[in-house]
Amino acid sequence: MTADIIDGKAFAADVRARVADHVARLSADHGLTPGLAVVLVGEDPASEVYVRNKGRQTHEVGMHSVEHRLPVDTSEADLLALVAQLNVDPAIHGILVQLPLPDHLNSDLVINSIEPAKDVDGFHISNVGLLGTGQKSMVPCTPLGCLMMLRHHHGSLSGMNAVIVGRSNIVGKPMAQLLLGDSCTVTIAHSRTKDLPEVVRRADIVVAAVGRPEMVPGDWIGEGATVIDVGINRLPGEGGKTRLVGDVDYASAAEVAGAITPVPGGVGPMTIACLLANTLTACCRANGLPEPE
Ligand code: NDP
Repeated sequence: MTADIIDGKAFAADVRARVADHVARLSADHGLTPGLAVVLVGEDPASEVYVRNKGRQTHEVGMHSVEHRLPVDTSEADLLALVAQLNVDPAIHGILVQLPLPDHLNSDLVINSIEPAKDVDGFHISNVGLLGTGQKSMVPCTPLGCLMMLRHHHGSLSGMNAVIVGRSNIVGKPMAQLLLGDSCTVTIAHSRTKDLPEVVRRADIVVAAVGRPEMVPGDWIGEGATVIDVGINRLPGEGGKTRLVGDVDYASAAEVAGAITPVPGGVGPMTIACLLANTLTACCRANGLPEPE
C-alpha cells in the first residue's frame, strides 16, 4: 500500500485564500481590518523564521501586522507592560507571544496576562478550560490545523481510535480534546507509556508530536492508518545545510499508512493558516459579527 499524501501546503493556501476573502469583505462592509501583534523576545533562530513567516502571511491576507522584537534580557515587567498595552489596543485583535521565552521569564504568567479574547494561540488557561469543557474558545493553531486535515480527509472521525504520541500543553493535550470533541476514542502516549509500538499499532489515527527525529517507524503503524506528523526536527544535510524531518519515518510509514502528512509541507503550513483564521475569528467576535465558517 502507498499512502495518500495529505497536502498541508495546498490546504493551507486554500485556508489563507478564504481568510483573505473574508478580510476583504470586513474591510468593504464594515471598515474593519483584523490586526495581529507578534512579540518575540531574544534571537532564537527557529523563532525568527516563524515570526518572519507569520508577519509576511498576515500582510498577504490583508491584515494589519505588528512585530515587537525585544532584547533577550527584557524584564518580565516590561514584557507584561507591552502585553497590557496590546490588550487594550483596538487595532489589535490577536496577540501571540512567541515561545519559548528566555529562562528568566515566566511563560505561564506572560501567556495568562493576554486578554483571552485576543489569545490567538489558545494557550491562556481560560481558553484551555473552555476547550476542555466543549465551549467556544480560541483553539491552539497546530492541533486545529491537524483536525481540519483529518476532517477533510475522513469526513466524520466518530468512533475512530486516535493515538497521540506526546502530551505537551501546546500540541498533545489540546489535540486530544479536539479529537474527543469529534467522538474519537483517544489515547495520549508519552515517554512513560508501556509497549508504545503496540499502542500505536491499534490506532486508526496517529498524531506524532514528540520532537524526536523519525522516532515512529512504519512497523508501528497499523495497515491503512492515517498519520499526522507534527514533528519539525532539523538534521544536518548536504553542503552544510540543514534538512527537516518529522517524528515519523516517512518512507517506511508511507508503505503501510492509508494517508500521511509530509514534513515539510504538512502540519507546519496549516499552523500559520490557522493563526490567521483565529485572528479573523477574534476580530469578528470583538465586533459582534458572524464568525467565519
Ligand atoms: P514537547 O517537548 O513539549 O513534548 C514532547 C512530548 O513527547 C512529551 O509529552 C514527551 O513525553 C513525549 N516524548 C518524548 N520522548 C518520547 C518517547 N521516547 N516516547 C514517547 N513519548 C515521548 O514538544 P512539543 O509538543 O512542543 O512539540 C513536539 C514536536 O512538534 C516538535 O518536533 C516540535 O518542533 C513540533 N511542533 C511543530 C509545530 C508545527 O507547527 N508543525 C508546532 C509545535 C510543535 P513526557 O511528557 O513524558 O516527557
